[in-house]
Amino acid sequence: MDIHRCGTIKSRRPPSDWFTGDVWQEPIIEAPGPARVRSAVVRFDPGARTNWHTHPLGQTLYVIAGSGLAQTLGGPIQEIRAGDVVWIPPGEKHWHGAGPSTAMTHVAIHEALDGKHVDWMEPVTDAQYGGAAG
Ligand code: MN
Repeated sequence: MDIHRCGTIKSRRPPSDWFTGDVWQEPIIEAPGPARVRSAVVRFDPGARTNWHTHPLGQTLYVIAGSGLAQTLGGPIQEIRAGDVVWIPPGEKHWHGAGPSTAMTHVAIHEALDGKHVDWMEPVTDAQYGGAAG
């Protein structure tokens, strides 16, 4: 059993190639094989969001603070708030992030397939994000 003590896990900024705006994350689980679950806390400042992306085995988001936005390609932009749980099916192109004027923090949980848990794509443009109702 490994106990990772509070204060020993450093916050890190994910690569800006994959996100717009100010985003911080802390890993919760990066289990060695054969386990393949991964999880992280991700904090988005107002206006920050992921690029478009897919997850080979899907993803669960558990919003723990604030109010943000999420969208599946071709679907409406939806508000997500603290306490909401979002399931994104395998291969579904989507993005998630803060609201235009509200920060949002979620726990992201996903499994890796052949060592990969996400396939990153193009940024969510201001025009795409601006379609969001504040
Ligand atoms: Mn995702």
